[in-house]
Amino acid sequence: MAKAIYPGSFDPVTKGHLDIIRRASQMFDELTVSILNNSNKIPLFSVDERVKMLQSVCSDIANVKVDTFSGLTAEYARRTGTDVIIRGLRAVTDFEYELQMAQTNRKLLPRVDTVFLTTSLEYAYLSSSTVREVALYGGDISEFVPPLVAEEVYRKLEKAD
Ligand code: ADP
Repeated sequence: MAKAIYPGSFDPVTKGHLDIIRRASQMFDELTVSILNNSNKIPLFSVDERVKMLQSVCSDIANVKVDTFSGLTAEYARRTGTDVIIRGLRAVTDFEYELQMAQTNRKLLPRVDTVFLTTSLEYAYLSSSTVREVALYGGDISEFVPPLVAEEVYRKLEKAD
């Protein structure tokens, strides 16, 4: 039985992430979307809020779970008996960083491989930071995120005003 994790910030989860989640869930028996609680970045959403949003938007995919972790991805992968780390690639600009991270993780945990899924073209431009920025200046984010997430983003930004 092959277990995969898809680690990331998901601040918030976008349609690009969801596309990767759906495709990866078909390739592995179990997929855990793992929210990295990384104190270097000040997030828009708390980890708990991100968990709730991810659980809602993934509720129709039977073999997907949502979890959180802090510290090293390789440590988390070791602890959870993970076989594969999933990452998404959008453009060449992602590549250098992703390659370096995959190689570092391979050094730390040789048993585990990173598998890259290339983004579906319609989401190639999309990132959580774009979503946050467009919403901040009053733009329409309904093309970028599921409806529930769009509501939460606008609600959060209203509170911050
Ligand atoms: P991180 O802060 O770790 O980059 P993100 O939540 O931004 O976390 O992204 C998690 C993973 O999803 C990364 O591998 C990223 O390249 C990938 N990803 C982000 N947006 C998209 C997208 N639109 N299409 C495909 N993959 C994406």
